[in-house]
Amino acid sequence: MNDAYSDLVTRLREISRLNAISSLLDWDQETYMPPRAAAARADQQALIAGLAHERLVCDEFAACLDAARADDADPAARTNIREARRVFDRQRKLPRSLVEQIAHASSSAKTAWAQARGESNFALFAPALSRLLDLKKEAAARIGFPNEPYEALMDEFEPGATVPALEPVFTQLREATVQLLARIRAAGRQPDESILVRNYPRPAQEELTARMAALLQYDLEAGRIDVSTHPFCTTIGGPTDVRITTRYNESFISPALFGTLHETGHALYEQGLQAEHAGTPMGEAVSLGIHESQSRLWENMVGRSRAFWEGQYPSVQGLFPEALGDVSLDAFWRAINAVRPSMIRVEADELTYNLHIIVRFELERGMLRGDVEVGDIPAAWNEKMKSLLGIVPADDREGCLQDIHWSMGAFGYFPTYTLGNLYAAQFFETARAELDDLDGAIRRGDTRPLLDWLRRSIHRHGQRYRAHELVQVVTGKPLSIEPLLAYLRAKYGQVYGL
Ligand code: ZN
Repeated sequence: MNDAYSDLVTRLREISRLNAISSLLDWDQETYMPPRAAAARADQQALIAGLAHERLVCDEFAACLDAARADDADPAARTNIREARRVFDRQRKLPRSLVEQIAHASSSAKTAWAQARGESNFALFAPALSRLLDLKKEAAARIGFPNEPYEALMDEFEPGATVPALEPVFTQLREATVQLLARIRAAGRQPDESILVRNYPRPAQEELTARMAALLQYDLEAGRIDVSTHPFCTTIGGPTDVRITTRYNESFISPALFGTLHETGHALYEQGLQAEHAGTPMGEAVSLGIHESQSRLWENMVGRSRAFWEGQYPSVQGLFPEALGDVSLDAFWRAINAVRPSMIRVEADELTYNLHIIVRFELERGMLRGDVEVGDIPAAWNEKMKSLLGIVPADDREGCLQDIHWSMGAFGYFPTYTLGNLYAAQFFETARAELDDLDGAIRRGDTRPLLDWLRRSIHRHGQRYRAHELVQVVTGKPLSIEPLLAYLRAKYGQVYGL
């Protein structure tokens, strides 16, 4: 380690602080910001993005990065130098004006998207989306890519991911999903999902949210739970300020229940990063796919498991006597694991969820290549939904306007959700093998053994390993679709008596 390295860390931390300020502005925009503040907020976001970019790509940063040295025995320093180099090399290809234009266009597009979604009218979103897509195409062309422009954007969320690596995985997964779906349909034992859409009063849902966050050991002295249209988790200054949002629907329990478990899973990862490395890559999450593995693991592998509900159901039933008083544990557990092709990705079951991702993966690649024009998106969306899930949205709101991602300019983000499902199943299989009686602990509501395992196996490493290396280090095997398939077959074997 040398002086240049210390200087590099100082610079990385300053950039991280600017990004944290941007996250705070974003958090505010999604939770409390009054509607008429949108234009001023877009200007603020553009300024912060421009400042952070300039601090990263300036000559001083370059000189310091070139001169920084780390001992072989210091993995944190080696990680920080390697990752600083990766981000620097990527960002310096983008002029500040383009970065500012993207930040501005995405802040405005979010407002247009919210209005278009509210009115279920894609045409209201199309101009803002076109503008943003053009800017992102320009960014992709400047960054460069091994095979197609989509990869340049995907790399921001899942470093190193390529289309040739992902496509066969998605193809295998789609084939296996379609087969399992056919067996489930043939079983003819559809759970009664109507019990989930009864009257669930909001005060009791808020209590449920608080209890679930506490059960999972989300530290609310270093976090908070608010309400937004599209639930998310954001970190504002390292593991000491990690916030989540949820949403409440009084006639549907699932969004608040599973949304909270999901976002809490993200928050646990952020709170488990090493505080001493905050603001540097060693103190940051590996990739969005690994991030999603943490949320999925808690939401699905734990939060939809039989063992979890054997422990939790009586108290949840007590919170909702009107809705659940006459519902058995078995009926509830089967209902929350029902499989049914549906329109909305965030409400999809664990099996068909990945088909929603494949719809977006294929469409986005087409948008970036220029094969799919913005005006054609609603029709192209509906066509893909029909061919993959066998259903067609009634309107844009439940079709191509459902997700916030494109309005944020986050093209290339969706594949990280399916990667997250795959990583989650592979990690959970290993945790189960390495921990004594994991199901027993989950049944008792004792989440400590699993959280400790995740902290030492995954969280504490920050970006020390790239995603594919981390999977190998933690599970002893490269990424495979088999653990997810084994998990889904076992679960639906029980739910549907296959
Ligand atoms: Zn997530």
